[in-house]
Amino acid sequence: RFITFEGIDGSGKSTQARMLADHLMAEGYEVVLTREPGGSKGAEEIRALVLEGEPDRWSAETEILLFTAARRDHLERTILPALAAGKVVICDRFADSTRMYQGLSRGDLRGVVDQLHELMIGREPDLTILIDMDPTEGLTRAKSRQTAEERFEDFGQALQDQMRAGFLALANEYSDRFQVIDGKGTLEEVAQRVTSTVKAHLS
Ligand code: C5P
Repeated sequence: RFITFEGIDGSGKSTQARMLADHLMAEGYEVVLTREPGGSKGAEEIRALVLEGEPDRWSAETEILLFTAARRDHLERTILPALAAGKVVICDRFADSTRMYQGLSRGDLRGVVDQLHELMIGREPDLTILIDMDPTEGLTRAKSRQTAEERFEDFGQALQDQMRAGFLALANEYSDRFQVIDGKGTLEEVAQRVTSTVKAHLS
């Protein structure tokens, strides 16, 4: 099974992805926990190219190509082999993040993102957990752990608001595979919601 986590910056999705992986492993599942951009050697190299450096280093279109190239490598080298071996793959961000960040935030490029996805990726997750979070709260959390090299964190409140609304709309668009989880509460409370949703899906 291929499970992805999505959400705005500071939504807690990376922590929740890790907690879910730990939980499933403790139950005897073979789990591969991975992330985007990255998740394979080549894709991690591309990650450094897209997340570091000045904000206008790449045009919006080139950025889409780089994210798609990274995803293709990740899919070929990490995700598909693990799925073929019967493992549960948990991925922190996937194509939905590109539909949102590259598809919305630098102009209306969703059509380009979708066309490239169909051509070069063609695989959707079986289940996508959207950790929904108040954009202001998320921003406060994201800023508190901001690293200088991660230029994407700088977009600020307007982007957070746009991405939150965008992710919720995406969850409607792909309602067959999306589950929206309330990100409020303690880590354990949110993890409990995630676990019961995923268990229902795996059984
Ligand atoms: O998932 P994580 O928060 O580590 O992502 C790092 C940064 O990359 C985030 O600030 C996110 O906004 C950005 N990003 C992006 N486009 C993607 C994936 C992530 O702009 N497709």
